[in-house]
Order: sequence, then structure tokens, then C-alpha cells
Amino acid sequence: MSLPIKIISTDFDGTLHSDSEVPRVPHRLERLIAQLQRAGAVWVINTGRDLKDLLEGLRLSGLSIRPDFVIVVEREIYQHVEGRWDSVEEWNQGCTGAHQTLFHEVKRSLPEAVNEIRARFQATIYEDGYSPFCLIAEDVETAAEIHEFLEGYFRDIPELTVVRNHVYARLSHRAYNKGTALAELGRLLNISREHIFAAGDHLNDLPMLSKNYANWIVAPANAVPMVKEAVLRQSGWVSDFNCGHGVAWGLERVLEMHGLPIVTAPE
Ligand SMILES: [Mg+2]
Repeated sequence: MSLPIKIISTDFDGTLHSDSEVPRVPHRLERLIAQLQRAGAVWVINTGRDLKDLLEGLRLSGLSIRPDFVIVVEREIYQHVEGRWDSVEEWNQGCTGAHQTLFHEVKRSLPEAVNEIRARFQATIYEDGYSPFCLIAEDVETAAEIHEFLEGYFRDIPELTVVRNHVYARLSHRAYNKGTALAELGRLLNISREHIFAAGDHLNDLPMLSKNYANWIVAPANAVPMVKEAVLRQSGWVSDFNCGHGVAWGLERVLEMHGLPIVTAPE
């Protein structure tokens, strides 16, 4: 049997996982991913969370399955090896170096931008190990306005981009995102985009919800309008089901298209 999907790339919050549901990841999706992993597919969680935060989310989800890889902070790749999470060093070092160079350039003009944002908007701004500018806006509308302001303010630095998810945002390097990291994973595993499935719900997922990187692109019903529009524009699929139920629907649709069986619960 030739497996149509060889890499499953799922965003975490609002896509694979929902804080407000029990269980947080639907059993149906868990079974489907397990079935595909047993058949040889690689599962990667592609998230804006950092590694520690993702591992805590996975622990709380009570999942019996485990991703083969994770892409964290929308850009760093780690592989699960015998209970450890090993950094994919070549990519991660290149990523860190590119960000250091870029942020050195940005830091000169950043204080003025921060002062202006603080004067005009309700938002928390801070620096962390991944970005000299991280944002938690008061609401989604404010986040969108600050996003627009930052894009205008830093338009002379083309490598710089604003990565946003709901009220959260950070400055980042345009060359390192969920899409390019997914492409790097495909390159490392010698798996072409024809065999890649990607699912996401928010703006930070847009780079991977691209036919450049994945053959099947899926948004759950709870995805933001801009994501649904981007997916439909590329003849991807928008589910009528929320979060993990929508991802399961997408995976089942691919299996059905290829005449492959769907393993149901053993109960
Ligand atoms: Mg999400």
C-alpha cells in the first residue's frame, strides 16, 4: 500500500487541541494519526508555543500518541529520539544566526516603535529569548492595528515579519516560519510536498497552509476568516467541524479518496 500522506503537520492550539473540550484532542483524530504513524507517516506538531510549553500542553492532553517531530516558536525543529527531543542542529543554528543578525539591525529603531505603540494602544510588550518584541494586545482588533503599524514602521527591513496568532505577536525573520520549517523537514526526510498534509487555524499558520509546502491544506471551522479564504483560494478544504474534529475530517477525506480503510475504535 502506498501511503498518500507521509507527513502530517498540525498546528496545536485551536487545531489539534482545544482547551474547552474533553478530551482536548478527539479520540477519532488520535486513532487516525496513530493509524497513519503505524503505516509509516511522520507526525509533526507545528506550533507557536516553545518546546516546554508544548510538552506541558501534550502532557495535559493525555494523548497516547507522540509526535515524531515538533516545530516550535513557528521555526525551530526538534526530533523525538528515545525519549529525548533532539535539536535539528543545522537548521536551528541557521535560524538562530539569522535572527541574531536581523534583531541587531532592528534594535536601533525598536525603542521608538515601542514608545509609539504604548502611547496609542492597550498592550503588553516584552522581550524573550526568541524576539526583542513580543506582544499581548488587549483584544484581536488592537492586535491587528498594531500588526499593521509594525509592518509600516519596519517596511525598510524586508527580512522582518510580524508573526501573529490571536492577540499574540512577535517580530521574526521572514525566512523562518511554519512553512519553511515544514519544507526543511520534508527535505530531511526526502518527502515531497505531494505527500504532505497541513492543518491550521490562525494567521501564524498561513505560511504552511500553502500549496508550495503541502498537497492537502485544511482549516477547521473555527479558523479565522483570512485563513479560510487562503485555504479555499488554493482549493484546500475548510471543515464544518471545529479543531481536532476538523483535522480528522480532512485526514479521513484523503484516506477515502485513496480507497484506504479507516481504523475505528476497538471498543
Ligand atoms: Mg492555532
